[in-house]
Amino acid sequence: MALTNPVAIVKGAVSLIIGLGVTIKAFFSPVVTVQYPRVELKISPRFRGHTKLVADKDNPDKTSCIVCGMCEKNCPSGAIVKVVGEKKEGEKKKTLTSYILDFTTCSQCGICVEICPVDALAFSAEYNRAVFTREGCHFDLVKEFEKRKIH
Ligand code: SF4
Ligand code: SF4
Repeated sequence: MALTNPVAIVKGAVSLIIGLGVTIKAFFSPVVTVQYPRVELKISPRFRGHTKLVADKDNPDKTSCIVCGMCEKNCPSGAIVKVVGEKKEGEKKKTLTSYILDFTTCSQCGICVEICPVDALAFSAEYNRAVFTREGCHFDLVKEFEKRKIH
């Protein structure tokens, strides 16, 4: 009859108090979880999502990319597959019309961000993208830039 054993009763009581102590401590500790996906996480500035195009400081409606192709040539993974631009009438610089990133092969090494002569690339804070096909990971960064302007 273990329940009538005083030693067992004391041990059980001590164990219960220790357990309650852990529960009470956790109850008053700051909450570290969020109600994902209803609540989005605050991402560290050093987080590396896929690359994104940065707006031109003088003309925020456009990207600052000058379509030099340096990022495409120097990407070690061949993840930048199509950088295309056109020179519009009356404009001095080319305007970027397409920038396709194949995120399936990107290692997020940062070479493209470092090498860009006009700082037109940065890492996004995107962390919860889900796709069903490999093609779904082919991001058109120009389209994404245009979408960001609207939202
Ligand atoms: S981060 Fe590295 S692998 Fe990814 S696109 Fe840039 S250069 Fe290529
Ligand atoms: S290196 Fe910079 S400016 Fe040149 S094509 Fe890439 S993003 Fe555009």
